Amino acid sequence: MTVEEVKALVRNVPDFPIKGIQFKDITTILDNPDGLRWLRDEIVLRYKDLGITKVVGIESRGFIIAPAVAMEMGVGFVPIRKPNKLPAETVSVTYQKEYGEDTIQIHKDALSPDDVVLIHDDILATGGSMAAAIDLVRKLGVRKVYVNCAIELLGLHGREYLQGKAEDIYCLMALEVDE
Ligand code: AMP
Repeated sequence: MTVEEVKALVRNVPDFPIKGIQFKDITTILDNPDGLRWLRDEIVLRYKDLGITKVVGIESRGFIIAPAVAMEMGVGFVPIRKPNKLPAETVSVTYQKEYGEDTIQIHKDALSPDDVVLIHDDILATGGSMAAAIDLVRKLGVRKVYVNCAIELLGLHGREYLQGKAEDIYCLMALEVDE
C-alpha cells in the first residue's frame, strides 16, 4: 500500500470526545489487513537496524501495533500504563494536560541502562504524552530513546515540543489537524 492509500483509511470523527475536536480514528486502518500490515512493516523497516532492544507502547492505542513490531523485530514489549494498573513496583511521571494533569507509570524493572528503546503511540498531537513517556523511560537510565507515532497532527507543534528529547522522531503519516 502507499502512504496516501493508508492516509485515506483514517476516519475523521468530528466533535469526539468533546465538541471542537476532530478525532483521527485509526480503527479503519486496523480493520483493513493491508493497512494493518503496512503499519507494522513500515515501523520495522525504519528501526530494524538501529539496535532496538525494547519496544514501549503507551496505553491504550499504543498497545495495538507496538507488540506486533516488537515480535517482528525479535525484542520484548513493555507497556506504559495509567496509574494503578501495573502490579509490581513502578516509577511514575505526572504531566500537565490542557485540563488538569495526568500520570503514567512503567514497571521499574522493565528497562535497564543497556536498553535502546523505541516508544510507539498512535498519534502525536501536542506531544505532551510522548514527552512524559520519554521522561519516564529515561528515569530507568536507558541508553537511547527513539520515538514513533503512526500519525503526526500538523499545526500542534508536537515535534517542536519533543525537540532534543529523543534520538529521532519519526511518524508514518502527517495529517492536518482539521483535514
Ligand atoms: P498529545 O499528548 O497532545 O500529543 O496527545 C496524544 C494522545 O492523545 C495520543 O495518545 C492520541 O491517541 C490522543 N489524541 C490526541 N489528539 C487526538 C486526535 N485528534 N484524534 C485522536 N487521538 C488523539
